[in-house]
Amino acid sequence: MKYISTRGQITPAGFKDAVMMGLATDGGLLLPQHIPHLDQETLAAWQKLPYRELAFEVVSLFADDIPPGDLKRLIDRSYDSFDNKEITPVVRENGVYILELFHGPTLAFKDVALQLLGNLFEYLLKERGRKMNIVGATSGDTGSAAIYGVRGKENINIFILHPHLKTSKVQALQMTTVLDANVHNIAARGTFDDCQNIVKALFNDLPFKEKYALGAVNSINWARVLAQVVYYFYAWFRVADQGGSDIVFSVPTGNFGDIFAGYVAKRMGLPIRKLLLATNENNILTRFINEGDYSLGEVVQTVSPSMDIQLASNFERYLYYLFDEDPARVRDAFAQMALSGRIEFNAAELARVREDFVSRTVNQAETLDTIATFREKTGYLLDPHTAVGVRAAQELVPADATPICLATAHPAKFGEAVQRATGIAPPFPASLSGIDRLPSRCDILDADLAVIKAFIEEKAL
Ligand SMILES: *Cc1c(COP(=O)(O)O)cnc(C)c1O
Repeated sequence: MKYISTRGQITPAGFKDAVMMGLATDGGLLLPQHIPHLDQETLAAWQKLPYRELAFEVVSLFADDIPPGDLKRLIDRSYDSFDNKEITPVVRENGVYILELFHGPTLAFKDVALQLLGNLFEYLLKERGRKMNIVGATSGDTGSAAIYGVRGKENINIFILHPHLKTSKVQALQMTTVLDANVHNIAARGTFDDCQNIVKALFNDLPFKEKYALGAVNSINWARVLAQVVYYFYAWFRVADQGGSDIVFSVPTGNFGDIFAGYVAKRMGLPIRKLLLATNENNILTRFINEGDYSLGEVVQTVSPSMDIQLASNFERYLYYLFDEDPARVRDAFAQMALSGRIEFNAAELARVREDFVSRTVNQAETLDTIATFREKTGYLLDPHTAVGVRAAQELVPADATPICLATAHPAKFGEAVQRATGIAPPFPASLSGIDRLPSRCDILDADLAVIKAFIEEKAL
């Protein structure tokens, strides 16, 4: 399997090179040259596979340059850190199927992909005799999942910047209580945007990037999307086993990574009726699907902070398919975006969008109301991101279809919002209990490029 860029200006690369490249060198995103289409027999053969074996089948279709025995070991090791033997179990509450993606070490769905990416990095760096310094900015979830993905791994250092005192308490503790020597937490005295701008500047400093072999873990890495394709199959099989048909996946969306994995599963031939793209007040993607209006707005802060995003980086991958795999059209669209802050679509394109997607915005009051109502009916606590998807499904999925709602975080991770909605502080799962009494390590630095750069130079591999 070779990988190409959405902008069409790289030499096709194998899976291993695609993982190491992250962002394509022409500024586009990497995609497989073709997406395999599964026949009925293959789907039937996969139906009863446990999670790890299913993951091996899916991933090997796209990663044919890693020997099967090695790939199996990498996958097994990645999911050993999950506290549920099904890895991503599906539960049923009040007629709603909920796909629980929060059983990994940091209690958010990002673990499903970042556990695998961490192991892949370690494997590939060892094979190539190279080292990597991962640098990233986080408003909370990605940072801790990335740290847990690479803690203690050989030939990798990780530097994660978070805005000092501006993440939730649990989110900060999940990062700073990891004491492995290769983990460096930087609390920058500034905002998340300051952190992100510093990281961008470091990556744009090409001599610095080369010298320290900077690596990225944001959701533009193809391996992250690929790892997430697996649970769409897994959940579809579980619900079909129980007689569910016409399945609609409801996906709380920020950077379009998670829902794009669902789109890949659909293109592979998994019979998904629709993908429901659920947004909070940051609803550019809902406006696009429902009104054809893809124009940039201001980022609004909400109770589902991991979805407080305007420009979804993975959206470019979808545009490549919408534009009939024509990289020149993708380049045009982003040139348009840079000039005018919007992309125009014609009626035929919008009709095609609506064959695959439906969408709804769920505002903060509706989100909190959904957490409260769902708990009254079922006793089950939804985190605010999951609640956005559940509410959107309640409003939009017709009676003859079966919704599966992706639960992207454990409610204890966003305990304040859950308490505001229900009056109850969600109990900490075992992995979090006592976290506030653990020793922690973190450097508090000014949000200043020169200061951060000097810090990295001192500690880098
Ligand atoms: C990252 C995140 C999302 C958004 O996922 P995308 O892949 O960025 O669309 C939703 N919920 C939670 C809890 C997250 O951490």
